[in-house]
Amino acid sequence: MAEKCVYRNFIAGKWVETGTNGTFENMNPADTSDVIGVFPAGGPEEVKEAVAAAKEAYASWRLVPAPKRAEIIKRAGDILTERKEELARLMTREMGKILAETRGDVQEGIDTAYYAAGEGRRLFGDTVPCEFPNKFGMSVRMPVGVCGMITPWNFPMAIPTWKIFPALVCGNTVVFKPATDTPATAVKLVEILLEAGVPPKVINLVCGTGSAVGNPLVEHPDVAVISFTGSSEVGRKIAARGGELLKRISLELGGKNAQIVMDDADLDLALEGALWGAFGTTGQRCTATSRLIVHEKVHDQFVAMLIERAKTLRVGNGLDEQTQMGPLVSESQRRTVEQYVVIGREEDKATLALGGKALTSGDHAKGWFFEPTIFTGVQPHMRIAQEEIFGPVLSVIKVRDLDEAITVLNGTIYGLSSSIYTRDVNAAFRAMRDIEAGITYINGPTIGAEVQLPFGGVKATGNGHREACHTVLDIFTEWKSIYVDFSGKLQRAQIDS
Ligand code: NAD
Repeated sequence: MAEKCVYRNFIAGKWVETGTNGTFENMNPADTSDVIGVFPAGGPEEVKEAVAAAKEAYASWRLVPAPKRAEIIKRAGDILTERKEELARLMTREMGKILAETRGDVQEGIDTAYYAAGEGRRLFGDTVPCEFPNKFGMSVRMPVGVCGMITPWNFPMAIPTWKIFPALVCGNTVVFKPATDTPATAVKLVEILLEAGVPPKVINLVCGTGSAVGNPLVEHPDVAVISFTGSSEVGRKIAARGGELLKRISLELGGKNAQIVMDDADLDLALEGALWGAFGTTGQRCTATSRLIVHEKVHDQFVAMLIERAKTLRVGNGLDEQTQMGPLVSESQRRTVEQYVVIGREEDKATLALGGKALTSGDHAKGWFFEPTIFTGVQPHMRIAQEEIFGPVLSVIKVRDLDEAITVLNGTIYGLSSSIYTRDVNAAFRAMRDIEAGITYINGPTIGAEVQLPFGGVKATGNGHREACHTVLDIFTEWKSIYVDFSGKLQRAQIDS
């Protein structure tokens, strides 16, 4: 059994062992006897101290040239590269997904580091002509100040790096509150940033619950931006509070993503996509495929292929290279999934075609495992087709044609990711145009975002911001327009011209 480690918060340039609310333990969801560590449970006092330190550090950090700040982030990327395997193993122990995926999670952090570092030599603004002689106009990106980063557990490295790396390159300082299910990865990331050369106080880490740490961070008057990734339920509360405080709030929230399979699709390819999309990360991705919308002409054949393969998926501890699907992150998450299976069976005419049960014998008894689960005959209005389950549960919906497929796909409150498998270029272009989602894949699964394209969703998935790409800069910078009049006289815009 692994040794119990004591982890600390990093506040005002110091590592601090216990929090206002004592400590909490974090367990491996594949083997609950494996305690990852003991963590400080922070509260409003720690938030206050961390924000004060970040505010103080902002005065000098914002003046460090952006290419220099970027060099530090580049070094963080190099360290992540060197330590990729160790970090991936820790993450698999901490939240359960299989090693191939946690390696990918670290890789996304590396990609983000190098992309954000490049921005240190861009951060483009515009120079534009002015309407008067001897007058110069330009817009520049300014840092915003102290940024509060609140993150979920399903991408313990990638999501924090999406936020923290560009924010630091832009000249902001950070108070980071990770999910209570994945604090160890957060501690490692902060250690790496310090090793790379981020000055103490520029980065602060406060572990603890949403109510004890997240909420005071949102409410603190010296926090200029809250960048939140998590559930729509919590995001809605943060948006409401942020609205009252006139604070910039960036929200990346839930999804109910669908893959369409048309009658002309390469079914073998669509099958690989559906399996990866629905059961990768045990269905616990914001972009997971939780609905499969299948053309009636290929429906029965495709469902048979899907069940055949899904039942062979090897469910187990993600540290075992043979495992294809790990556990759910916690007991409460497994309970939620079980409840949705009951809802699916009781509502209308859905058929439980595969799975539906917690795995509780043998090695599975050690953790929060669940069978890959497929419902067929699902009607679009049913709760299992409308609500985010965040587990390995796939709802199959049969449709007549492309119009109906797109209508069904669009018929939820969410709009994060989407996918269509078809060989018909016209159908593909119609899907690209008519699907209401932040991301559409053609002949690929609903998961697989790359850092150089904007990431985010429409409708209840967010509030219009986009992480990754250069679009993330709009979250972490403020535009300033600058007019330089070197004519030596008053030139009145719209009046003298
Ligand atoms: P969650 O909303 O329960 O928690 C997210 C974070 O918010 C955690 O750090 C939590 O402690 C904190 N929090 C909780 N209550 C808070 C409050 N009142 N004030 C401030 N902070 C608070 O979500 P989760 O269970 O950690 O993650 C799963 C959810 O995240 C799913 O809905 C998933 O779709 C979503 N998600 C979205 C994206 C995206 O980019 N759109 C990516 C990953 C996950």
